[in-house]
Amino acid sequence: MAQSTPFPSQTDVDEVSKSFAFTTRLDDLVAWGRKNSLWPLPYGTACCGIELMSVMGPKYDLARFGAEVVRFSPRQADLLLVAGTITEKMGPILVHIYEQMLEPKYVIAMGACASSGGFYRSYHVMQGIDRVIPVDVFVPGCPPTPEAVLDGVISLQKMIGDHKPRPWRDNWVNPYEQKQ
Ligand code: SF4
Repeated sequence: MAQSTPFPSQTDVDEVSKSFAFTTRLDDLVAWGRKNSLWPLPYGTACCGIELMSVMGPKYDLARFGAEVVRFSPRQADLLLVAGTITEKMGPILVHIYEQMLEPKYVIAMGACASSGGFYRSYHVMQGIDRVIPVDVFVPGCPPTPEAVLDGVISLQKMIGDHKPRPWRDNWVNPYEQKQ
């Protein structure tokens, strides 16, 4: 009479599966890939744009964080890096670029000018790009150090990885369409 093979217990199956498989939530896996493959569009208008170049260069090497694939087309980018003074006249163009970017998309305001208008307290300078587009991370400084910019990118990565809610993004409406 043939002997029947005993079925392995659930514990045995779990132990064996640990040797070749790991489990995670699909959301976490997607967020992990997303945060480590940001494609930035550098919107450099002034001195901060020059500083941003050093962040991309070999010394500070943004590539270590997976964000070195700089794109000059909004349709190929998901991180808008605004580096420099933004005038009121540039506002509609900035919004137009933001709207053309891929979802999900993120914004970093680099430096005092992009974050608050900097020392330009004048009618023609926008007193912070968050007046027209939703900003995820503000990087202080005039200009910010490359380390501060890297810290901003890391903060954004953490926000993505932790699935942090972004009400400023969810509630955003194009301010120029509102005025029409
Ligand atoms: S924050 Fe300072 S360094 Fe950056 S664009 Fe403004 S003036 Fe230039």
